[in-house]
Amino acid sequence: MKTSYVSTSIPYVNARPHVGFALELVQADVIARWRRLQGDDTYLLTGTDENAFKNVQAAAGEGLTPRRLCDRNAAVFQDLANALDISYNRFIRSSSDAHFRGASLFWTACRREDIVLRQYRGLYCVGCEDFYLKKDLEDGRCPVHGVEPEIVEETNYFFRLSAYQKTLETLIASGKLRILPETRRNEALGFIRQGLQDFSISRNRERSGGWGVPVPGDATQVMYVWFDALTNYLTGPGYGSNAGSFERYWANCPDRIHVIGKDILKFHAIFWPALLLSAGLPLPRTIFVHGHLTVEGRKIGKSLGNAVDPFPLIGRYGADALRYYLLRAVRSGEDGDVSEARIRDVYNTDLANGLGNLVRRLEALCERSGYGCVDTRDAHIPPDVSGALDRFDFAGALRAIWLRIGELNREIDAVRPWELLKRQKAERLSEHLSAWIGSVLDISWVLRPFLPCTAERIETGLSRSRIRKSQPLFPRLT
Ligand SMILES: [Zn+2]
Repeated sequence: MKTSYVSTSIPYVNARPHVGFALELVQADVIARWRRLQGDDTYLLTGTDENAFKNVQAAAGEGLTPRRLCDRNAAVFQDLANALDISYNRFIRSSSDAHFRGASLFWTACRREDIVLRQYRGLYCVGCEDFYLKKDLEDGRCPVHGVEPEIVEETNYFFRLSAYQKTLETLIASGKLRILPETRRNEALGFIRQGLQDFSISRNRERSGGWGVPVPGDATQVMYVWFDALTNYLTGPGYGSNAGSFERYWANCPDRIHVIGKDILKFHAIFWPALLLSAGLPLPRTIFVHGHLTVEGRKIGKSLGNAVDPFPLIGRYGADALRYYLLRAVRSGEDGDVSEARIRDVYNTDLANGLGNLVRRLEALCERSGYGCVDTRDAHIPPDVSGALDRFDFAGALRAIWLRIGELNREIDAVRPWELLKRQKAERLSEHLSAWIGSVLDISWVLRPFLPCTAERIETGLSRSRIRKSQPLFPRLT
């Protein structure tokens, strides 16, 4: 059986998840479920990035140990994945023993001449856990955090990224490493063509509060949090702990897909492939980059106090409705906007009136006419849906499905089945019902990756020998 591999990025756990991460989870889940629907044995990986110094600081602020803070917050991220019906195979926590073992193994697998010890003096922002060049600061402050970076002088291990410049350029330019959408591919190429600098991959252990993955063979250093975080894509399927699973889902898997946000493109399109080349391991095949969400037109930020919490939205509208909104209203690869008014709007129009109404009308007609369904033919996938999904165009795929839903609703209006029922034209009615139910079952089949719970309810409801009116799929909002 063909295998495929899909991952989300792993978020920091120093704050609660916001709706932007929900978008990424849902996109990755649709890809994985779509692959499974086509028969692939698909591995979906998500998890949390826990070795950041930020966690040490956040924990100290709350009077907790970093371990306690990570346990508590990672559980919230996993709750979110569950609440959104994400079909992950593993939720990898980067503070786990298995991840530590795999990250250490990866470090030692890198070519020895690629990891060099250097004295370094630079401007360091603790919030970013990264060094800045003076020219990249804004009025001497970190452009992300608005704080003045500290001058830090230490001896760190550096990775010889510069040695991979040509190889990376060829890989991306040739499409061997596919970066989607095109704008992000060009951005990565532009970055490479500016010239790649070696980068620091370790931090002083003491300055990191003793938190992080120890550098093999050097007790004074821990791995730079990005170095170990990237290796989660390998330790998740079993690198360093389960060789069979790692071989199956990464090393010998023909299609390895990372789903990431545009802010971390550089780490995934440049640092990560270079590290893998150094370690002699296969690269991802595809990096799909989504845009960012704004909330009522404003950038989401913890500091802005408008980081939208996905849990109450799931509570009010249901997981499938939030999935639908994120997939349909946010064009893949581009920025999108979230507002509760728009979620309500889409819920009423597309879900309650569109799909919900279609299914309910058919169920009511079947109940009244005593129609039972024994439809066992194979579902057929509309080519526009499958083409859109192969391009990661989730909104386009849903648009195609909803066009079909609209057509069916109009067709039912035109045929006036209630009159056929009144005039006791049972045979004609039953012919129509059979065709319509077949079409709705086709729709629900192709909806499985997007709205898994709704698709299952439709299929259960319409596969009975006596079809009855069931609970509305999308109850009217009060
Ligand atoms: Zn910063």
